[in-house]
Amino acid sequence: MIDSHGRNINYLRISVTDLCNLRCKYCMPEKGIKKTCHDEILRFEEIEEIVKKFVSLGIKKIRITGGEPLVRAGIITLIEKLSKLKGIEEIAMTTNGTLLKKYAKELKEAGLTRVNISLDTLVDEKYRTITKGGILKEVLEGISEAKKVKLTPIKLNVVLIKDFNEDEIMDFIYLTKDEEIDVRFIELMPIGQLKQWSLNRYLSNEIVIKKVPELIQIESRDISSPARHYRLPDGKGNVGLINPISCKFCSNCNRIRLTADGKLKACLHSNNEIYIKGLMRDGKDITEVLYNIVKHKPKEHGLENGEYIEREMTAIGG
Ligand code: SAM
Ligand code: SF4
Repeated sequence: MIDSHGRNINYLRISVTDLCNLRCKYCMPEKGIKKTCHDEILRFEEIEEIVKKFVSLGIKKIRITGGEPLVRAGIITLIEKLSKLKGIEEIAMTTNGTLLKKYAKELKEAGLTRVNISLDTLVDEKYRTITKGGILKEVLEGISEAKKVKLTPIKLNVVLIKDFNEDEIMDFIYLTKDEEIDVRFIELMPIGQLKQWSLNRYLSNEIVIKKVPELIQIESRDISSPARHYRLPDGKGNVGLINPISCKFCSNCNRIRLTADGKLKACLHSNNEIYIKGLMRDGKDITEVLYNIVKHKPKEHGLENGEYIEREMTAIGG
């Protein structure tokens, strides 16, 4: 469906849980997040109903995220159901990869198309530090398994963090040399209780070009992609730069977000949310509400005017 700013809105991101088995420093507050009671989280039948309605409005692509989507019980069944919906062309997942070794095959068989895996360092000790206890080996094994069952093309999401991983930029880029793996450097966003931590550790991803000037900019296959794309001269995979702050990609934004507790966000950086779960549980018809959300998606975000996201990323899903 075309919104009032001429954009084709065809992509829905669904956070299926705000729980996670890791505690990344920029995402999960030290004391954890306020536990959401089970009944506040969208049930799978509700997610399915919302997706069906969105499909009739032109949504073709879905991304499952979280929290960590693979810690939600029954996730394979949800993917199986969504992948069978007529009109859905792609179901992707963003995951920290720690449980992929166990689930990749089932996910593929259930209809998942591909995965983005978040990984901010290739060094064991640093991984343990940034995730507060995570084990790098599990993620690397998860990546291998995802490759094996062809949840491809695999994209690695690397959040750039000052004084933490700028020395590994070349190592990450090198992964794209011999394999069709995409590495995307994402700028830290000031979100929720960790706003100040992220502002202090923010690093513009222009540093990637400075460190690796041989990268060649290439045309993006997908104009709605928030990334600018590059390649090593003899590289097989792409290197993406995602600058939510220093470079706006609002004019091509094609996405709507559904939070784990049943709220719709038309813009990641806006605090405006529509409580769709409440309307559904009150027995209201949500068709027109969904139409209006898509139609009136904001033209652009106001991050550089000091607006920032108040909710934790775990509830929204990135
Ligand atoms: N647990 C899954 C994972 O880590 O991939 C999915 C959810 S996580 C919230 C989705 C993405 O958001 C991850 O790539 C993560 O690195 C990113 N993210 C979380 N907090 C962020 C922040 N403050 N700034 C930029 N990216 C962030
Ligand atoms: Fe968990 Fe993903 Fe947030 Fe890390 S970024 S704490 S893995 S939800």
